[in-house]
Amino acid sequence: MEKKYVYLFSEGNASMRNLLGGKGANLAEMTNIGIPVPQGFTITTEACTKYYEDGEIIVDEIIQQINNALKNTEEITGKKFGDKQNPLLVSVRSGARVSMPGMMDTILNLGLNDESVKGVAELTQNERFAYDSYRRFIQMFSDVAMGLDKRKFENILDEIKDEKNYEYDTDLTTDDLKEVVERYKEIYVKEMGSSFPQDPKEQLMESVKAVFRSWNNPRAIVYRRLNDISSSWGTAVNVQSMVFGNMGNTSGTGVAFTRNPANGKNEIFGEYLINAQGEDVVAGIRTPQPISKLKEELPKCFDEFMSIAKKLEAHYRDMQDMEFTIEQGKLYFLQTRNGKRTAPAALKIAVDLVEEGVLTKKEALLKVEPKQLDSLLHPAFDENELKKANPIAKGLPASPGAACGRIYFTAQEAKSHHEKGEKVILVRLETSPEDIEGMVAAEGILTVRGGMTSHAAVVARGMGTCCVAGCGEIKVNEEERKFTVNGNAYQEGDYISLDGSTGNVYGFAIKTVAPEITGYFGIFMKWADETRKLKVRTNADTPRDAEQAVRFGAEGIGLCRTEHMFFNEDRIPAVREMIVSENEEQRRKALEKLLPMQREDFIGIYKAMEGRPVTIRFLDPPLHEFLPTEEEDIKELSEEMGISYEELNSTIQSLHEFNPMMGHRGCRLTVSYPEIAEMQTRAIIEAAISVKKEKGYDIVPEIMIPLVGERKELKYVKDTVVRIADEIIADEGIHMDYKVGTMIEIPRAALTADEIAKEADFFSFGTNDLTQMTFGFSRDDAGKFLNDYYERSVYEFDPFQKLDQNGVGKLVEMATTLGRGARKDLKVGICGEHGGDPSSVEFFHNTGLDYVSCSPFRVPLARLAAAQSQINNPRK
Ligand code: PEP
Ligand code: MG
Repeated sequence: MEKKYVYLFSEGNASMRNLLGGKGANLAEMTNIGIPVPQGFTITTEACTKYYEDGEIIVDEIIQQINNALKNTEEITGKKFGDKQNPLLVSVRSGARVSMPGMMDTILNLGLNDESVKGVAELTQNERFAYDSYRRFIQMFSDVAMGLDKRKFENILDEIKDEKNYEYDTDLTTDDLKEVVERYKEIYVKEMGSSFPQDPKEQLMESVKAVFRSWNNPRAIVYRRLNDISSSWGTAVNVQSMVFGNMGNTSGTGVAFTRNPANGKNEIFGEYLINAQGEDVVAGIRTPQPISKLKEELPKCFDEFMSIAKKLEAHYRDMQDMEFTIEQGKLYFLQTRNGKRTAPAALKIAVDLVEEGVLTKKEALLKVEPKQLDSLLHPAFDENELKKANPIAKGLPASPGAACGRIYFTAQEAKSHHEKGEKVILVRLETSPEDIEGMVAAEGILTVRGGMTSHAAVVARGMGTCCVAGCGEIKVNEEERKFTVNGNAYQEGDYISLDGSTGNVYGFAIKTVAPEITGYFGIFMKWADETRKLKVRTNADTPRDAEQAVRFGAEGIGLCRTEHMFFNEDRIPAVREMIVSENEEQRRKALEKLLPMQREDFIGIYKAMEGRPVTIRFLDPPLHEFLPTEEEDIKELSEEMGISYEELNSTIQSLHEFNPMMGHRGCRLTVSYPEIAEMQTRAIIEAAISVKKEKGYDIVPEIMIPLVGERKELKYVKDTVVRIADEIIADEGIHMDYKVGTMIEIPRAALTADEIAKEADFFSFGTNDLTQMTFGFSRDDAGKFLNDYYERSVYEFDPFQKLDQNGVGKLVEMATTLGRGARKDLKVGICGEHGGDPSSVEFFHNTGLDYVSCSPFRVPLARLAAAQSQINNPRK
């Protein structure tokens, strides 16, 4: 039998979402349960994939099926395509498996031509409307289906308005619009070399192709990458007969939600306009009425509308977002879908639906997108102000939240103005660890370079600070302390606003409002915790972050990066002294200075975590990151250290590495200089003993060795740790267990995980480095070319954000199996950025990991993602 590529609405149902797209499946479902829906048909997602496979053509077999469906639709509606008396007009809309609002193309009023326009004028008793629709259709078709520049059409409209001295489009008379239509058709001929297609079937085929093509427009590709949508899915196309809400005072059109999408209140929420078409509601020329008013204007329609809305919500067991049109007293539903809602609304609706007995707790847990929780934890822009604001530039949405403040171009300036009580935004080409204090002081961070795992992005997410990264549109002039974009200059001290959730940059101040964590959030997260098996820890290096993470539900620290503590103003001199030491003695002297400070850091963290497990990692980054680069700073340091400038400078030069990320870092440092490991072990164990004594917590320190690639390397460092730790514990005469484990972040470590496990009490996958080393591209530089990969569909997503399950994931699976094979009780976790990405969390759950660790502000998200993974794929 011939494969079916086209389904009438009456032939599908809600379970066919993958084939018919979300919109198509819902139109079919509504038709089945007796909701009045203007009839039509859906061309499947498979037809879209086939269109691409066949070299961007629609084959005869599918054309035939479309024509048959069209005939059926004509019969059902009693209207005819291209007819002068009773013309069938259709809308042609995209509809993928998941909704991608505004990303793909739509064509309305298709079927209009020189004849049918007269029919529409007659039927609506509104000639002006008919010709206005026709000129809009010509423009939309030419732009969307034929790729003509829509400005050419807009110019004509402006010309005619100028000629007649009109201010608004609404000033155009019927005769003017007829002239517009003629001129539009002339342009079409000029540009296309043929006349505007009068045959509605031809119009339809071209439009269907255009919708298929729009699946791969740049907007859609970017949207897919940000929302985990596969390019292989394709879009369906819905061809639906148009109904008219502008046929007098018993007609109208509107949109409504079954519950309030802003706060979740259980009340119908919507707007409509009498005697209008959908576009008028959107265009904002007339102010729509609240839906309650319909009760007075068209009571019968209102009652029917309310009962259908209730029926739809009960049927889909979720809040619905509906579009409706009333044509001469007859109500139609054009679309329904699960309504988009704010995070607070999502939580209230989920909890309410459980209390109303509609959903089980597990079903409710699946209704909220983990990523949505983010917005609950950060300040947000005042909605009303945001509505009116236009962005000046757009970068990567690197760390969510809203920020508004005065711009400064150096960390020092940001810090000093912050200390004076100003709200500041730090603007940098890219950030480095030296900028940390400016970053802490800033409300938001804007960088020109760098991707989603650049230093700025990772640190900002860790701190929960809003960050827009990689905003190449702005040109920073550090010397003149300004940036320019689109010819406008923004000077030091000027206000800008950043939206870290969209990447938008605004050239003025927008009011922000503090996050509100309502009771529903707590109830919902408790359900998530009761459900999940995967534990959730946090990456935190300060007591402040640790406390924040505990408030967000972290069960421990999975990664404490000790190097972040070394950048503080009071420590960096000692750190630098240690690095440029010429011999062990000098190094030990510098380490002596660091010991008490490190111990205090760890005491603070152990106290903040109140006995929860804490994994502390040894010094990891390449040493040059700590060294001064400016002549002045080098001079200052040489004076502090009592050595000559030349000597210090030559030491610094000798530390230069061509590829520092693959250089002298991680455990390699402690193999060369075991005294560093000695100091860090001492600081950790002494801190643990002190807090155990003071607070009575049963602390089991977890010491983690980074960047291991060989068992003996781990053993070498571990031997030092064990020697020092045992010595201290014996001296103190106290009982304390401790664990020594390793990061798995070098492919060789994954490949030899069975050997490595013999020396390790636990593994923690460092998927940032593991991704970098497996792909062989730098986590700091890949952002520069990965965009080309997305545009050319070579990669669909950023492997530094979403785990590459086929490649890096295989190493994770393999190392877990090998490791546990060698050591049954091996604890396995992950502490790379992927620990806070929902689809990656699902993968770690499925792989049987014990925990994920992520930045504090992603902890609630990971808890929910872990619960959803357990519901979808239960494990013991
Ligand atoms: C990693 O590599 O995944 C990791 C957590 O360590 P870092 O990001 O500090 O290199
Ligand atoms: Mg690493």
